[in-house]
Amino acid sequence: MPEEATASAAPIVHALGATHPLALAPVTAPPASVDGFVREFLHNLNFELGVSLSASSVNDRYLALAQTVRDYLMARWLDDQRRLSEIKPKTVCYLSAEYLLGRQLDNNLLAARLTDVATEALAACGVSLEELREIEVEPGLGNGGLGRLAACFIDSLATMSVPSIGYGIRYEYGIFRQTFVDGQQVEQPDSWLRLGSPWEFPHPEAAQTISFGGHTEKYVDDDGVERSRWIPGWNVLAVPYNYMVPGYHNGRVNTLRLWRAVATSSFDLRVFNSGDYEEAVRAQTYAENISKVLYPEDSTPQGKELRLQQQYFFVAASISDFLENVLGDGVELEKLPSRVIFQLNDTHPVIAVPELMRVLLDERRLDWDDAWAITQQCFAYTCHTLLPEALEVWSVDLLGRLLPRHLEIIYRINEEFLEAVRERFGDDEMRIRNMSIIGEHPYRSVRMAYLATVAGAKVNGVAELHSQLLRDKVLPDFDEFYPGKFTNVTNGVTPRRFIRLANPDLASLITEALGAGWTIDLERLRGLEAYAEDPEFRAKFAAVKASNKRRLSDVLHVRDGFDVSEDHMLDVMVKRLHEYKRQMLKVLHIVTEYEGIASGRVAASAVQPRTFVFGAKAAPGYIMAKRIIHLINAVGKVVNEDPRVEGRLKVLFPPNYNVTLAERLIPAADLSEQISLAGKEASGTGNMKFALNGALTVGTDDGANVEIRQLVGDDNFFLFGMTEPEVEALWAKGYRPADFYQQDDDLRRAIDLIASGAFSDGDRSVFEPIVSNLLYDDRFMVLADYSSYIAAQAQVDAAYADQDAWTRSAILNIARCGFFSSDRSMRDYIDRIWHTPPVL
Ligand SMILES: *Cc1c(COP(=O)(O)O)cnc(C)c1O
Repeated sequence: MPEEATASAAPIVHALGATHPLALAPVTAPPASVDGFVREFLHNLNFELGVSLSASSVNDRYLALAQTVRDYLMARWLDDQRRLSEIKPKTVCYLSAEYLLGRQLDNNLLAARLTDVATEALAACGVSLEELREIEVEPGLGNGGLGRLAACFIDSLATMSVPSIGYGIRYEYGIFRQTFVDGQQVEQPDSWLRLGSPWEFPHPEAAQTISFGGHTEKYVDDDGVERSRWIPGWNVLAVPYNYMVPGYHNGRVNTLRLWRAVATSSFDLRVFNSGDYEEAVRAQTYAENISKVLYPEDSTPQGKELRLQQQYFFVAASISDFLENVLGDGVELEKLPSRVIFQLNDTHPVIAVPELMRVLLDERRLDWDDAWAITQQCFAYTCHTLLPEALEVWSVDLLGRLLPRHLEIIYRINEEFLEAVRERFGDDEMRIRNMSIIGEHPYRSVRMAYLATVAGAKVNGVAELHSQLLRDKVLPDFDEFYPGKFTNVTNGVTPRRFIRLANPDLASLITEALGAGWTIDLERLRGLEAYAEDPEFRAKFAAVKASNKRRLSDVLHVRDGFDVSEDHMLDVMVKRLHEYKRQMLKVLHIVTEYEGIASGRVAASAVQPRTFVFGAKAAPGYIMAKRIIHLINAVGKVVNEDPRVEGRLKVLFPPNYNVTLAERLIPAADLSEQISLAGKEASGTGNMKFALNGALTVGTDDGANVEIRQLVGDDNFFLFGMTEPEVEALWAKGYRPADFYQQDDDLRRAIDLIASGAFSDGDRSVFEPIVSNLLYDDRFMVLADYSSYIAAQAQVDAAYADQDAWTRSAILNIARCGFFSSDRSMRDYIDRIWHTPPVL
C-alpha cells in the first residue's frame, strides 16, 4: 500500500478573525485509501459535475478524477504558499513565453503517490484509469524544445523544493494540430480548452491592468526632480490562471501562473444598442486576441505587433504580480535582488528589462543609477540559438508606437552602455556599432539579445559547445567587455516524465536493480554499468524494448492505422521540421536504401529490416519545411507499397508529434537521429530523452550530442559528419554541393530518383525546389555530410546484427547519461546564476 498522503499540521486559515474550529483546522488531504479515494471521486462526480456515475461520460469521469487528484495536492499547495509568504526566500521567476507541459493527470498522480490507489479505486467503480488517461488533451502551449525545457525545469524546481514561479501565457489555442492531406501538412486549431481544463484555477479578481500605446511626457516631481511618465493609449486586463506544479514525492507544490488577456470593459453598450454589433465588440476582440494563439514558429521570429503585445503583456503582468503579491509591502527595493531572479527564457521576455526599470523609476521613484543597479542583478538570460536569423529584433517604429516609455529607457540604457564601451576601448566606431543595442540595418531596431546581455547578471548557453560558440562567434565583444558574465548550463530532461511515466517497464527494471532513488538522483544510473555485463539483465532489457515496440504498435494502429514489426530496427527522427535539423539527410538515406533495392543492385533479403519513424511539425509559413514533409510522406508511400522491398523498409510519419506521442515513441526506439549541421543545434533535448531510454544515437558533433558522446563513449555512439570548425572552413572556402553530387554515385542516384518524379507520380516539378535547394543553395550542407552519414548507417546495421552487443550499448547509454537530468541543470543554474537554495 502506498504511503498516506499527509498534510502539514499548520492551519491555513489564520486570519480574518476566524473563531470556528473548522476554519482554524488545517486543510488536510483526504485519506489516501481506496475507500477514501472512491468517496472523493464520487463526490466530485456528483457535486462538482452534477452527474451520477451511471449517467457520466468519459469526460465527466476524467474531470472528476482530476479534481480528486487536485484535492489531494491542495493542502500542500496552500501550505507551501503560506509558508513561503512567511519565510520570504529568494525566488526564481522563470519567464517563458512557452510551456509545453504534456498531459497532467499521470504526472500528478505519480507526484502525489496516488497511482495505485486511484487505479484500484476506479476499478472498484468499474472505471478504467487507462481510458481516462487517454481522453486528456495535452496543453500544447509551446512549439518544441524551448517550451518543453521550461516544463522540465519547473518539474525539477518543485522536486528540489526550490521556491519558484513559472510565468507565461495561457494561450486559448496552443500549437496547431497537424494533419496530412495527400501527404501535405494541414493545420487545425488546437482547442485544448473545449472540454474544460480541470487543472487551472482562474483568479479574475487578481487581474492586472496592462497598458499599451499613447505617449510620454516630462514633468518635475514634488522634490524638484525631472521625471518621465507614460500616458498610455489603451489597456487590457491580465487574468492569472494558476496551475499546480507538484514535486515528486516531496510534498511540495509550486505554482505555474499563466496570464489570459481580457478586455477592460466588455463592450460599448451604446454602440451595440445603435445596431453596430461588430463595432461594439471590436475593441474587446482586439484586446482578447493577445492570448488567443501561440505563434507556431520555431527558430525564426516573425516581428509581428501581436507578438510584441504578447511578450509585454505577460512580463508586465508577472513583474507587477511578483512585486505586489509575492514580495508584498515594506520591502526595500534595494533588497530586491536578494528576493528574486527573473530568468529570461530566450529573448521573448526581454522587454521585462525596461519594464522593471519603468516601474522602479516612474512608479517607485528611484533614480536612474539605483534602478539600473537593481535591475542588473535581477535578470539572467538564456540564449537558445546560434542562427543569426533567430536573434529577435524589434523595429524602433513598432516598439516606440506600442511602448513609447520603454523605448526611451532602452535608448538611455544603450547610451550609458556605449559610453562605458568608449571609455574602455576608445572611439572604435566599428566596435561601437557592432555592440549597440540599436541596430541601423536594414532598419532601426532593438536587438533584444544585446539588451538581455547588457542587463543580465549572467548569460548562458545551453550546451558546452553552444556556450563556447556564443562567446566566440555570436557575442564576442560582449564576452570581452564583461569577463565572467558568460556561462554554460547544459540542458536536461525530467526523468519523472521521460523515464518513470513514459517507460514504466524500464523504470521497474532499474528500480529492481538499483532501488528507487534514481528518480531524483539520476547519477545513480551509473550502477547499471555492471548490469550491462549481465546476460540475464540484458535479456530483461531486450524484453522491455520489445514490449515497448508492441505498445507503440498498438498506439499507432489505433491512431493512424500503422503497424510496427518487432523484428525491425526502430529508427526515429522526431523534432520540429527545420532545414538545420536536416530531415533531408535522413530522406536521402532512405531513398538510397530504397534505390539500391528497386534497381536490383541490392537484394532486399540482404537489407537489415528497419522502420523509419518521423514526427515533425513545420511552421505554417515555412514553405521549404512543408515541402520536406510532403516529400517524406511521398517517399513513405512509394517505399511502403513497393513489393520489391518485401516489407524490409518501412517509413511511418504519424502526424501531430507532441509530448504525448514522444512518450510512446522514445521508449520503443533503437536508434536516435540527431543529425543537425555542426554548430547549428544549440543543445537538443530529444537526444537526451532517447539516450536515457536506451536508444543509440547516430549524430553529428553538435549541441549536447558532444557531451552525450563523451559520456557514453565512442563505442556506444555513431558519430559522423563535419565538426564545427570543418563546417566553417568549407563555408569559407566555398561550399559547392554539385561537386558532391557529381562525385558520389549513391548520392547522385538518390537525388536523381527524387528529381525524376518517382515519388510524385512522374511530376518532376513537385520536389524540384528541394532538389535545386540541395544542389545550389543549401546553407546546411546536407550533401557535404551525406557520404559520412551513409557510412555511419552501415556501421549501425552491422552493430544491430549483434543484438546482444547492441543491448549492452543501450544499457551503457542509460547508465552514463544521468548527467542529463533537468535536476542537474537546475543545480547548475542555482550554483552559477541564481543562488537560490532549496527551502524544505
Ligand atoms: C523534447 C521535445 C522536443 C525537442 O526535441 P529536439 O530533438 O531537441 O529538437 C520537441 N518536441 C517535443 C514534443 C518534445 O518532447
